[in-house]
Amino acid sequence: MANPSLLILPGDGIGPEVMAEVRRAIDWFGAKRGLVFDVSEDLVGGCAYDAHGTPLTDETMAKAQEVDAVLLGAVGGPKYDKLDFSVKPERGLLRLRKEMDLFSNLRPAQCFDALADFSSLKREVVAGLDIMIIRELTSGVYFGEPRGIHKEGNERVGINTQRYTESEIARVARSAFELARKRSNKVCSMEKANVMESGILWRDVVQEVHDAEYPDVELSHMYADAGAMQLTRWPKQFDVIVTDNLFGDLLSDLAAMLTGSLGMLPSASLGLPMANGRPKALYEPVHGSAPDIAGQGKANPIACILSFAMALRYSFDEGANADLLEGAVQTVLADGVRTADLMGPDGGTPVSTTEMGDAILAA
Ligand code: ATP
Ligand code: MG
Repeated sequence: MANPSLLILPGDGIGPEVMAEVRRAIDWFGAKRGLVFDVSEDLVGGCAYDAHGTPLTDETMAKAQEVDAVLLGAVGGPKYDKLDFSVKPERGLLRLRKEMDLFSNLRPAQCFDALADFSSLKREVVAGLDIMIIRELTSGVYFGEPRGIHKEGNERVGINTQRYTESEIARVARSAFELARKRSNKVCSMEKANVMESGILWRDVVQEVHDAEYPDVELSHMYADAGAMQLTRWPKQFDVIVTDNLFGDLLSDLAAMLTGSLGMLPSASLGLPMANGRPKALYEPVHGSAPDIAGQGKANPIACILSFAMALRYSFDEGANADLLEGAVQTVLADGVRTADLMGPDGGTPVSTTEMGDAILAA
């Protein structure tokens, strides 16, 4: 059987720096665990614009459609701020998401014990936290028509439309139930069925998919505002949360900050299964290109490394190897190894990006 294939798109700013540490982890799995990937690397974002005049070439797009998973670093930077919208670095990422139809955005909020004091909440509330927020990514109010600003009489009116079809809701619900079966078998669906028609449909369809296909999974429903409150009050009551594009944007940022630093947070965006049964998939850290620290060897590679761990788990069914990599991250944090973004006010000496990579591979 052919090796699983990975397309690596390091991108701009700290993207190439953090991705270099992922490449070392990939090589480690090949050498030590016999888990060999066919890796190709290409340009996305500002660097692709510099080389080709576009943030994503058709060739790179075609490659992304063929591989088993795409790993992306970060795109953008001040150098590209004045570019026309059609060729901005971010457009490269948006095109990947759109053409791969990545409708299910997985954002874990996992609290590493050694960092529990970095949370905005008390240690006992967040220690051991491990939840997953699934945000619908390709529909809802961000895309619904009609939209725009027009004149009504003497004043301007701004309009957006929240629109969901049954099939759009059903497919993201399925992705939540599938994931729940690999975790604690528990899903909470969040909407505003008390005030929104799309919320009523959302609740109905999630329940129907559950009853017909996933009766073994424990399902609950919550209004999204109550969900926000519960997430800050006692987040450990949740395992998988599934919600729409707008609520998912808010709730996943909120959940992220329960856990501490931006340099720690991975994400996955999944689409429909391909012919080989694997979902279309793109993995990337939640953070951006961090131009303020790019090129200085200061960036924390953990978010990108944990994104690769998600790829092991969700694209390649390598749960044990994903555990191994996540466990190594736990170990180095428990040992007190810290990049600058993880230093408290009374400090110590931070390690560099490469030294963090060294420590994780050693662990
Ligand atoms: P984007 O618009 O691409 O989301 P952003 O402006 O929201 O980017 P980031 O690029 O994510 O922001 O950076 C926000 C802050 O977090 C910056 O000060 C940056 O240095 C810091 N930061 C982000 N990622 C990391 C990382 N991996 N390691 C250390 N610091 C980071
Ligand atoms: Mg941002």
